[in-house]
Amino acid sequence: MSSIASTRYWFDTEFDERGPDIQLISIGIVAEDGRTYHAASADYDDSGANDWLRAHVLPPLATLERKSRARIRQEVLTFLDPAPSEIWAYFGEYDWIVLRQLIGHMLDWPAGWPLSHMNLEQLRLHLGGPALPPHCGTVHNALDDALWCREAWQHLTRRGTACS
Ligand SMILES: [Mg+2]
Repeated sequence: MSSIASTRYWFDTEFDERGPDIQLISIGIVAEDGRTYHAASADYDDSGANDWLRAHVLPPLATLERKSRARIRQEVLTFLDPAPSEIWAYFGEYDWIVLRQLIGHMLDWPAGWPLSHMNLEQLRLHLGGPALPPHCGTVHNALDDALWCREAWQHLTRRGTACS
């Protein structure tokens, strides 16, 4: 592991939720140092995807390389170095479960990593409900959504401006 101090990450997933079964479709992560990660799962069978996923989620993935969950897992573990101090998402309750299950069993979660995600919407409400900046990419593209999540966090914490 790197000796660099821990850092923030912003992430988003696209997933297919069928009752208790939540399948990873794609994941995007942005690191505080500007690195980005984006991958789509080759293990996701889109033959049963609903109309909403077919309309909004699957088209932007057409040009993205598909990788096995095992490979994505290893790449995410490598990407999240320096170790995360905060992992932010927008309405990320489902995304968090998808990320946790990508890594493995609860007990496989690396020691020292946060046990909860940081909730951008909760931060917004605690700040009195200000408007969030516009989304400058493709909505439901996991990396673009993660980039927007960082933009929105920067906006709420006054560390940046929209679409900077
Ligand atoms: Mg998304």
